[in-house]
Amino acid sequence: MYNAIDDFSDSYSESRKKFLSAMAGKGDVVSIPHSLKGPDGEDLSMDFGVLGKPDAKLGLVLVSGTHGPEGLCGSGAQTGFLNSGMLDDLSDIRVIILHAHNPYGFAWWRRTNEDNIDLNRNYYDFSVPFTPHPGYDILRPTMVPDEWDPEEVAAGLGVYEKEHGKVGLLAAMVSGQSHDPGGLFYRGSGPSWSRLTVEATLPGLLAEQTHVALIDYHTGLGPFGVPYIVHGYEKDTIEFQAFETAFEGEARSTMDTENLDEDLPASPEGPLVLSMQAVLPNKQNYAAVIEYGTVPPEQVFTTLMEDNWVHAHGKLDTEQGRAAKDRMKECFYPSSDKWKGMIWERSVWSINCAVKLLRDETA
Ligand SMILES: [Zn+2]
Repeated sequence: MYNAIDDFSDSYSESRKKFLSAMAGKGDVVSIPHSLKGPDGEDLSMDFGVLGKPDAKLGLVLVSGTHGPEGLCGSGAQTGFLNSGMLDDLSDIRVIILHAHNPYGFAWWRRTNEDNIDLNRNYYDFSVPFTPHPGYDILRPTMVPDEWDPEEVAAGLGVYEKEHGKVGLLAAMVSGQSHDPGGLFYRGSGPSWSRLTVEATLPGLLAEQTHVALIDYHTGLGPFGVPYIVHGYEKDTIEFQAFETAFEGEARSTMDTENLDEDLPASPEGPLVLSMQAVLPNKQNYAAVIEYGTVPPEQVFTTLMEDNWVHAHGKLDTEQGRAAKDRMKECFYPSSDKWKGMIWERSVWSINCAVKLLRDETA
């Protein structure tokens, strides 16, 4: 098998360079510039690699960087896909590689975007009133403190966990909220730049495809290097069945709320993959997240709180700020070739499953 280790990078700029160079000679790139810059003054952009025949019936979309630092995982998988020769067997498929869904967060090592919005809570119908999880406001003083003290954070989370269990704790944190713009898992008050850009660009690139599969790459939940595939289809739908068959029984649904656990603690509204019929209407869509594990959830969520505190209090350029960014990296992009190898191997598997799904569904 192709060894994709060198296709992974350590920064947004490096990953974009590798991605653009892997695209050269294979297809077109549509770049939508972002108005802000990265921490080193670098340009930011959402890039769409466009490959394959415009009139192919089938479409495959690979998305990286919905949550900023997780983009280094997705980008490595995307660039590996381009360099590995996998494309040679996909002449019946139009492929769109969406590089850096959230370029600001990618460059600045933030899960959220330039407005502290979690993009995977933002693909939401804002005309529908939203009720946040009741636990969010109880946990708010712990998660968004005035002073950063990890022991107090652990104690605050411990009190809630004692009463509601670990899955209950995680659900209260991650379900999403609209009323606390400086807090965590913030939905925003309307569609973000990233969402508007995707909605304005993707449909035109997939104008003629009738069946589209999308994989959105994520990291930070689950055991080290082990992915799980998660979608939002109900059990009795054709999409659920298609995933069940093509992904060899390994896909999970956020609608299966009776079986939530630490790896999938809640069924949040607003992820891209749950909004495909709005983003690409009049198509048969099959969308899923591939979520790769890194470190234990306590470490991931405490680090997200610390990172939020560092940004909110302007402490980026301090020893603590830099240490917090190192911790972000460990949580979302472990510096281990073994981990990258696991990412690549399971990325190949998931792309092959998605291709099989598309072909089986249209045979
Ligand atoms: Zn993520």
